[in-house]
Amino acid sequence: MSDRVAVIGAGVIGLSTALELAAKGRDVTVLADADSLESTSAVAGAVWFPYAAERSAAVDAMLATTLERFRRIVADHPEAGVDLRTGVIVERSPEPDRSWTAWVDATAVDASELEAIELPAGATGLRTTVPLATMSLYLPWLRERCAGLGVRFERRAVDDVDALARAFDVAVVAAGVRSGSLLGDDASVVPIRGQVVRVENPGVTEFVIDDDDPAGLTYVLPRRDCLVLGGTHEVGATSLEPAPAIEAGILERCARLVPAVAGAPIVSRAVGLRPGRERLRIEEVPGRALRSIAAYGHGGSGMTLSWGTAERVAALLE
Ligand SMILES: Cc1cc2nc3c(=O)[nH]c(=O)nc-3n(C[C@H](O)[C@H](O)[C@H](O)COP(=O)(O)OP(=O)(O)OC[C@H]3O[C@@H](n4cnc5c(N)ncnc54)[C@H](O)[C@@H]3O)c2cc1C
Repeated sequence: MSDRVAVIGAGVIGLSTALELAAKGRDVTVLADADSLESTSAVAGAVWFPYAAERSAAVDAMLATTLERFRRIVADHPEAGVDLRTGVIVERSPEPDRSWTAWVDATAVDASELEAIELPAGATGLRTTVPLATMSLYLPWLRERCAGLGVRFERRAVDDVDALARAFDVAVVAAGVRSGSLLGDDASVVPIRGQVVRVENPGVTEFVIDDDDPAGLTYVLPRRDCLVLGGTHEVGATSLEPAPAIEAGILERCARLVPAVAGAPIVSRAVGLRPGRERLRIEEVPGRALRSIAAYGHGGSGMTLSWGTAERVAALLE
């Protein structure tokens, strides 16, 4: 009989992992206390770009794996809501980290080459084309693919991983920012609050990310259904209520970067808590009542590392 696997969490990590395991023939049930569209993952921009997460050779391999998997999804499944988008990464430091460009075509640009974007004084930029997911489409698509492969979904809170031993042989803990406390052996997960405001797209086709803006993380991301304007990076903050003063700052910074967004009608607002951790935790957790695998700590790169994570969890279970 195939191992019965419980994946705790229906964010982008839980769903991608469930799909990967089901595709390998495993008997998978996803346990989550909220709908995927209420997860942090649904708040994500969500662009393939390493941000606020571990960088190491192992993680770089996951970046590459995830990029390749998204390229295939773009080519084979237009309904998944993932697009290859061209945009500009604003660089402000004299020696920016460009290591991530190893897997993409990226070209340095200067202000004179940009029309719709106002590069901040002294900044340079890098233009590149990377996957960008409309999460309101992509998460339901992942879920549907899972269901198509026989994955079951149960809406319930898990407060004791060991108690799952009665019904399952393996637990994969993909509970985002709550994973450490759920396992009870890891106090190192720190919420990194991110607030966004979604507006009607006035015709912006390129994304722009300025994560070193001294006034605050700033980005403009065209999804299929709206333009996502962000953001914030508030370490340790946990309020899920959008703060009006923060939103005013986001709107102001984004309009400075991309003048066309000024005055665009607001569609919705959202806040998510990134699961911040110095290192990703993808490993066996010893000493539990059932075989347990941790899969969390993706910080600001959950979408960016999702398929690499799914493949690593699957390899651990081989
Ligand atoms: C504003 C913002 C912008 C972002 N932009 C990007 C981006 O452009 N690109 C990128 O790669 N990443 C981005 N991120 C980061 C990304 O959203 C996270 O890294 C990612 O969502 C983490 O996914 P996850 O599946 O681990 O956690 P989550 O999405 O938080 O999912 C956790 C799941 O676990 C469930 N759960 C938790 N505890 C329990 C329990 N005890 N019992 C049952 N279920 C439980 C929840 O219901 C949920 O389904 C952004 C984040 C924010 C906030």
